[in-house]
Amino acid sequence: METSDVTASVLDRIAELGIVGAGGAGFPTAVKLNARVPLVIVNGAECEPLLHKDKELMHHHAGAMLSGLRAAMELTGAAEGVIGVKNKYKDIIAELGAQAPAGIRVFPLSDSYPAGDEFILVHDVTGKVIPPGGLPKDVGAVVANVETLINIGNDRPVTHKYLTVAGAVANPVTLRVPVGMSVGEVIAAAGGATAAQFEILLGGVMMARLGRTDEPVTKTTGGIVVLPFDHPLVARYKGTWKHIERIGRSACDQCRFCTEMCPRFLLGHPIEPHRAMQALGFTGLKDAMLAGTLYCCECNLCSMFACPEDLDPKNVCVQAKPLAREKKLFWVGKPEDITPHPLGEARRIPTRRLKLKLGLDQFNDVGPLDERALTPARVVVPLKQHAGAPAAAVVSPGDRVRVGDLLAAPAQGALGARIHSSIDGVVRSVDGSVVIEA
Ligand code: SF4
Ligand code: SF4
Repeated sequence: METSDVTASVLDRIAELGIVGAGGAGFPTAVKLNARVPLVIVNGAECEPLLHKDKELMHHHAGAMLSGLRAAMELTGAAEGVIGVKNKYKDIIAELGAQAPAGIRVFPLSDSYPAGDEFILVHDVTGKVIPPGGLPKDVGAVVANVETLINIGNDRPVTHKYLTVAGAVANPVTLRVPVGMSVGEVIAAAGGATAAQFEILLGGVMMARLGRTDEPVTKTTGGIVVLPFDHPLVARYKGTWKHIERIGRSACDQCRFCTEMCPRFLLGHPIEPHRAMQALGFTGLKDAMLAGTLYCCECNLCSMFACPEDLDPKNVCVQAKPLAREKKLFWVGKPEDITPHPLGEARRIPTRRLKLKLGLDQFNDVGPLDERALTPARVVVPLKQHAGAPAAAVVSPGDRVRVGDLLAAPAQGALGARIHSSIDGVVRSVDGSVVIEA
């Protein structure tokens, strides 16, 4: 068999298993790894406060992760693999360093936010800046999530998702959850909420969204954070655009703190959130000052940490993006002219300070891995839990399925991912999701 045939069959196998980026975006992994680069970087930064999943997985499943990393390196032709781990996890750095074969090394990362942003991570590891709107492969790298590589290393269909349950719960923990189990049941498995009235943030606290107890866990759910309903972060996520716009127009004093602390601005990208605020105040978001907003990664640091007036420049940037795209305000510079800010390193925001600022220091910041089998009576498995088109169901109501059986597949040639059953049971309905009863 030619090397290219071997590569194609491994990529087919990864697609067959339904592996997608487990870090949040859900991009099909077989598509991402169909590239030629000299370097594969493992994103073990996990910079969202209170989340512990990747650290726990690197500790307990290092073998599978390293085997997935070796596969990714072979597929991309990469001679080098680098595992980015926060420098505070000295035990994990030592463990991985001892197990890593030739060509793979561990890179200690600062315990700051957003160390896990691909652009920051690639710059930390290589010293190169991915151009605005670009991809890691533009500077010779592919970045893979820890759990994604474990899924490759395990060589079985993706039926479960690891996630940390944190915040106002009795036992903060990292669990292996059947895809489609309800968020409420997962919270119960962490001992239940400790607040009588609570709200849920899905994905972390900085780049999160409000969740519901009745919605299902998907292949990209990385964390469930329970907060008392009156926690300031809840109010932040419940803010309406009308409120954000009205306060932003009247209270922004153009101090520039949002820009001076913006990680992408510090990287040399053309994003200056204070200019978007200026546009909001003077022209109602119709101005060329919106230009850089397209390159905002929505890390929320400007809104949640930098702004002394508690304004929301991040959501102003989000609101401005479609307008900037419509006006074709794209970056047209040369990659070689991008110069990181000389104070970028000094302006990193330590996770400890961020936690204090966000009012999260009251919660127990642990998430030990607990792999007990969770056995929901029913799962609701969405047909779209990845980038691309929803998968088309291949099962019908009444069908009996077992864990790992195929439920849905993307159309021939379409971007998407295969979806498998996470429990043994009977298919009860097929609509935007496949509902299975145990
Ligand atoms: S930090 Fe706040 S007040 Fe200062 S320029 Fe930015 S949005 Fe305006
Ligand atoms: S959310 Fe704010 S700090 Fe983050 S990249 Fe966008 S403008 Fe910069």
